[in-house]
Amino acid sequence: MSLDSHIERVLWTPDQIATRVFDLAAQISADLSPFSEPPALVGVATGAFLFLADLARQIPLPVTVDFIRAESYGSGTQSNGSPTISFDLKLDVTGRHVVLVEDIVDTGTTIAHLIAHMESKGASSVSVCTFLDKPSRRKVDFQLLSKGKFYRGFECPDYFVVGYGMDFAERYRNLPYIGVLKPELYK
Ligand code: 5GP
Ligand code: MG
Ligand code: MG
Repeated sequence: MSLDSHIERVLWTPDQIATRVFDLAAQISADLSPFSEPPALVGVATGAFLFLADLARQIPLPVTVDFIRAESYGSGTQSNGSPTISFDLKLDVTGRHVVLVEDIVDTGTTIAHLIAHMESKGASSVSVCTFLDKPSRRKVDFQLLSKGKFYRGFECPDYFVVGYGMDFAERYRNLPYIGVLKPELYK
């Protein structure tokens, strides 16, 4: 059975994703090029791996790339509780302009925790670039300090989505589009 048959509908196609990534990269490049320190791109594993790969290749600055993993234990399609960092950065971000690259910001719990973590490591600024944003589900109203910016690819309706890095039970990350999983597959 093909992976595509698990998808109820496609929200963003590969072409739409590529166009949006191109625009986000241009915006980030323009905002960060005035700084003497090159930006540190920090992908939130695992979901941001494709987005980070696509974004990084469109930013013509001497960026560094690293990953961090935050885990919050919860069941099925929702995370709950406070996240813990289960895999930390290898690179030193002291004095760096960090861009946290995320697949999706939902309640905001994970990103709020990661922003605080980057600040505690002495980053000069912390920005967030999330491919999808579900503002209707926000519970934690995170703040970005001076110079930090919030970039998002698309506002996502309140569906559980998969693809372009995002999983359900570790599957579907390799779908080249973003789609809604058939509810019978996760309910
Ligand atoms: P938050 O802490 O903002 O509630 O959730 C953040 C994480 O939950 C995301 O980085 C992602 O891993 C997961 N998540 C939230 N909404 C979705 C969704 O619609 N689909 C998938 N696959 N993961 C989601
Ligand atoms: Mg994520
Ligand atoms: Mg997940």
